[in-house]
Amino acid sequence: MTPSRRQLEAYRLKHAAEEGRVIIYRCGRCKRETALLAVDMIEIWNPEMKVYEPPARCGFCKASGRMTVRFYIPTRGDIGTLRLRRPNGVRRLWKWQMYEG
Ligand SMILES: [Zn+2]
Repeated sequence: MTPSRRQLEAYRLKHAAEEGRVIIYRCGRCKRETALLAVDMIEIWNPEMKVYEPPARCGFCKASGRMTVRFYIPTRGDIGTLRLRRPNGVRRLWKWQMYEG
């Protein structure tokens, strides 16, 4: 079953978090996958984010327009086998910045 465009439009990060979803981004060029917990993402990104829209660019090979996204609900079988990308303890992303003295 493919959800309609309107349903996708209404589906936001907060909904994915409520449903306990894992969001998996995949690059069609380098084939790398990144699985993230929606409940982790909501700590960092806007809860109203349209999660079905994949990033424009691959974070690994920098290819643009090759990313796809899918949603997944983990089961007991995933315990200890599903590899996730998770925030570090302080739940803060790092950025590059010049030395300011
Ligand atoms: Zn890539």
